[in-house]
Amino acid sequence: MEDSLHAPVLVLNANFEPLNVCNTRRAIGLMVSGKANMILNGRGVIKTVSRSYPRPSIIRLERMVKRPRPRVKLTKREILRRDHYTCQYCGSRAPYLTIDHVIPRRLGGTHEWENLVAACPSCNHRKGGRTAEQAQMALLNRPIEPPTSATYLFARHLHQNEEWEPFIEGW
Ligand SMILES: [Zn+2]
Repeated sequence: MEDSLHAPVLVLNANFEPLNVCNTRRAIGLMVSGKANMILNGRGVIKTVSRSYPRPSIIRLERMVKRPRPRVKLTKREILRRDHYTCQYCGSRAPYLTIDHVIPRRLGGTHEWENLVAACPSCNHRKGGRTAEQAQMALLNRPIEPPTSATYLFARHLHQNEEWEPFIEGW
């Protein structure tokens, strides 16, 4: 019961644009209060003492929500994902990767997509407090902010929620 209430639900805007992912508890709350309707079930029902609710996989808001195009959050996990879990200096897929500031913060480097890359511990150590240029270590890819397509934003959910794919593609 607890688990099923935490299962992820895809939330679509009134125009079917994928908005975000919420848990089942919140999705049912939105449906019960008339703010959303169910687009896709396929997960059976949740029974409470007094009644049962369909377990949604995708819901759609009744009213259009205006919001700026979402951006990928700048986190270690997202930097590793952008860099395909590969050290951007030597190309190794080390089991444990660190985040390297291409230009160290001490030298005025920023904490932004363009200055952050995945690095294996040995490359990070070799580079030390120097810039990539000073250390003569070339980057495999120029670090940039990831795309804001729905497919990129929601990719991590797609393995376990394949039924979402047609609702995410193209946005
Ligand atoms: Zn490396």
